[in-house]
Amino acid sequence: MDSTPVVFWFRRDLRLTDHPALAAAAAAGPVVGLFINDDALRRPSGEARLAFLSATLDALNADMGGALVVRTGQPADVLRQVLGDVGGTTVYATDDYGPYGRRRDTLVGEQLAADGLTVHYLDSPYVVPPNSIVTGGGTPYKVFTPFFRAWKAHGWPAAGERVDVNWVTDVDSEGVPTAPSTAADLPAAGETAAWERAEWFLREAVADYGSARNDPGVDGTSRLSPHLKYGVIHPRQLLERLDDTEGEEIFRSELCWRDFYAEVLFQRPDSARNAFVPRMAGMEVDEGPLADERFQAWCYGQTGYPIVDAGMRQLKAEGWMHNRVRMIVGSFLVKDLHLDWTRGARWFMDQLVDGDLASNNHGWQWVAGTGTDASPYYRVFNPTSQSKKFDPTGRYLRQWIPEIAHLSDKEIHQPEACKAGAPAGYPGPIVDHAAERIESLARLERLKTANAAQP
Ligand SMILES: Cc1cc2nc3c(=O)[nH]c(=O)nc-3n(C[C@H](O)[C@H](O)[C@H](O)COP(=O)(O)OP(=O)(O)OC[C@H]3O[C@@H](n4cnc5c(N)ncnc54)[C@H](O)[C@@H]3O)c2cc1C
Repeated sequence: MDSTPVVFWFRRDLRLTDHPALAAAAAAGPVVGLFINDDALRRPSGEARLAFLSATLDALNADMGGALVVRTGQPADVLRQVLGDVGGTTVYATDDYGPYGRRRDTLVGEQLAADGLTVHYLDSPYVVPPNSIVTGGGTPYKVFTPFFRAWKAHGWPAAGERVDVNWVTDVDSEGVPTAPSTAADLPAAGETAAWERAEWFLREAVADYGSARNDPGVDGTSRLSPHLKYGVIHPRQLLERLDDTEGEEIFRSELCWRDFYAEVLFQRPDSARNAFVPRMAGMEVDEGPLADERFQAWCYGQTGYPIVDAGMRQLKAEGWMHNRVRMIVGSFLVKDLHLDWTRGARWFMDQLVDGDLASNNHGWQWVAGTGTDASPYYRVFNPTSQSKKFDPTGRYLRQWIPEIAHLSDKEIHQPEACKAGAPAGYPGPIVDHAAERIESLARLERLKTANAAQP
């Protein structure tokens, strides 16, 4: 091993175990472990995610014996400075596949090369890195199920051990950014905490995951998404622990959705903002003061539809929302309020601790009927029936909406229809679902007519 230090640039891989890029750095020499506080990545994040990131960095720093170096600035400038400080010429990092990350990494590679410095990008935050799997016709997959089959057939490397690193400890650091104050109740951060949750899930919950994952009132999913977002756990570490029971196979497929959406975004970076299916781009959306008022009611859990309000209140309180409820609130925003899906997606990206451009924006496109594999636009979720079906006893509703907690299991899904009258302090429905469903379908017909008239 050379005694010249190398820099390891931490990004979405804030862990020390199963870490091929860190292992490559450690094999090359003493390592400066660097995190760059990059404004471009902080801007779309609300307080909850930034607070969770700070806590994750604190935990990583503790695991590194206090050796983490944090600096703020343009990545190429910071890397040049740190290499200059330690007399190094080489940087290692895990590869990034998102639109911003790709642009940044190409630029950093070029700028450093101009100064005779080198960056090695290895591995990825995914099980199978984007652009690795194609259909028989040589094109990228646009449908999940065949992608899942091909993904399993492709396979992945076994998870690695904790990397033994000789950290360089005497480099100037600003310290981990102070966590912004947040009212959100966040999960415990860091590798140890993430694995405690993972071990619990694999031991106690994965067997029932197939059914429990749709019930927002029970703790039936892994809740590992914030840790996966920051690479505190790599998904291949979880896959290695799975067998072939029904629950495990469904959990495997959920991890594959994460890869699938990263693949779709890699192939079509424009789909972060625009409809993946161009013919859906012209859907009429509501704008103006009434639309804004409705959007506010949606954001703050005041729509009068309990399952929607419970979800939006959970999001505010925990920076996380159950997947089934993400689908319900998304459908409500698009098909009952007729708002542009990107408005909802931006709010989610601000609020979610697991906010991830690929999973979020493609989750939204699925709900909005504009994406790959999307739920067809004409399939409109009825929030009241969804509530009765997936939270039959109202356990989830009672947890988040105290104003209606006293209602019976039957009445709680539709408080305005209570025999004793609507409960005080809880708003009546801001729109009539039956009428808005018809309006939504009418808009679809108008879009089809407009598309057919196009040359
Ligand atoms: C409108 C909408 C927005 C979403 N935004 C995000 C987001 O910003 N970040 C995010 O990680 N997930 C997002 N999802 C997907 C999903 O809701 C969350 O991954 C899941 O709820 C996280 O909880 P969990 O860790 O308990 O999931 P589990 O059910 O335990 O699943 C395990 C892991 O699989 C992955 N996964 C599960 N479902 C999906 C999915 N549908 N798409 C992609 N990956 C999935 C996640 O990494 C998750 O942590 C969104 C879904 C919708 C419908």
